[in-house]
Amino acid sequence: MELLDLKACEIPGLVKDKKVKALDITNAYLKHIEENDETLNAYITVTKQLALEQAKNVDAKVESGEDPGVLAGIPISLKDNISLKDVKMTCGSKMLEDYISPYDSKVAEIIKREGGIILGKVNLDEFAMGADTKTSYFGVTKNPLDPTRVAGGSSGGSASSVAGKEAILSVGTDTGGSVRQPSAFCGTVGMKPTYGSISRYGISPMANTFDTPGVIGRSVEDVLLLLQTLVGKDSHDATSLGNEALKELTLEDDVHLKGLKFALPSLYKNQELDEPIQESFDRVLALLEKSGAKVDIVEMDSLKYVIETYHILVNGEIAPNMSRFDGLRFGHRTKEYTTLEEMYMKSRSEAFGDEVKRRIMIGTHILSLDLSSEYYEKALKVRTMIRKEFETIFKDYDFVLSPTYPVIPYKVEEEMSPVEIYVADLFTVPVNLGNLCGISIPVENNSSLPGGVQIIGNHFKDHEVIKAAFAIERSLQQ
Ligand code: GLN
Repeated sequence: MELLDLKACEIPGLVKDKKVKALDITNAYLKHIEENDETLNAYITVTKQLALEQAKNVDAKVESGEDPGVLAGIPISLKDNISLKDVKMTCGSKMLEDYISPYDSKVAEIIKREGGIILGKVNLDEFAMGADTKTSYFGVTKNPLDPTRVAGGSSGGSASSVAGKEAILSVGTDTGGSVRQPSAFCGTVGMKPTYGSISRYGISPMANTFDTPGVIGRSVEDVLLLLQTLVGKDSHDATSLGNEALKELTLEDDVHLKGLKFALPSLYKNQELDEPIQESFDRVLALLEKSGAKVDIVEMDSLKYVIETYHILVNGEIAPNMSRFDGLRFGHRTKEYTTLEEMYMKSRSEAFGDEVKRRIMIGTHILSLDLSSEYYEKALKVRTMIRKEFETIFKDYDFVLSPTYPVIPYKVEEEMSPVEIYVADLFTVPVNLGNLCGISIPVENNSSLPGGVQIIGNHFKDHEVIKAAFAIERSLQQ
């Protein structure tokens, strides 16, 4: 049995039937990380001892006839902005280089309880701000499909670890596309569920009304398994609601595409895409047509404003969130200072990278008393307008369809301006602005890099999105 090729959804059964030991799977993954991660740089911290302990615990439960949990023996990586008790949580920043989490996030608590094996903490853009992990203090993560290229971001370590067989599943966070975009880059499946489905307790906030924990895996079925385990209400996060329909979903054989209605915004249809991405997208359009699904071009004017609206609102939330990192309450403290003010200034200047500083400055500027009605309040109104336009579309359609990202993963050394990187998020940010759910699935084309195709569903229609993604994935393999 090739342990690195097992599917997440088959592992718990194999472990319970004593066909394979959790310890053997864990050792195989730890060995692969040791051999491979120097190239990929997916991990910031490998939690070898913890993983071995968890695996032994699972095997002991199986031996004694106890239930080892629904994730028994599945190796999982966590984005390094998710707390894992007694383990470093850096958020990809020098600011938290030495910070140890004193408690488990809800996500980590559930994975441990259900017998999942946490292999470690993976790389991200600094505080999840970015799209290629280049803003990480710990260096860029490479793409396993072509290590001369970036893995995407901000959950680049998550997607790279899954695609590079350094984990089977990973938990990331998605504020404007950070689970879906690296999935598109690395050929993995990535789902951002509806906001509130999974507790954010113990996850370092970037922009609280946007942040959503999400899952990256090698197939829709694998992603579903972890999502279903993580969804739920949590008394520690008042915005968590759970997601019953997703929790109860089973992927039956009769899941099909016939009769489904997809809306394709004209703005998306006319968007210039890199050739392989266009090929992948066209392949899905042809498949949908052949399968009896309907795809209509629709007008959605509000989509023109999503990038500006996203950055005003997100930076408005980022600036106050970053204020806790002041060298006193949390984070790096400068060595030499004479006054308190100097201590704050030097600590923050030394430990934050350029992208984080840029966003704090923009956020502070647009929230200032004389400007907030001009920018922030107006952007809130546009957010409502975007939501309403999606609501109208979802009266007539089941899904909105788009590519996940317009370009293929670029070379590590390629320099992009911040604005070039921001505008490329045009397909992913509406999902966070509109409080919707979205999945990216990899679609092969004539190049060596698959293109990501995104299916967007209405608020709490995650189960429908998963079913459609599963049907497309299966049809593409036939
Ligand atoms: N690329 C987007 C940004 O930098 C998304 C980030 C995210 O989802 N964490 O804002």
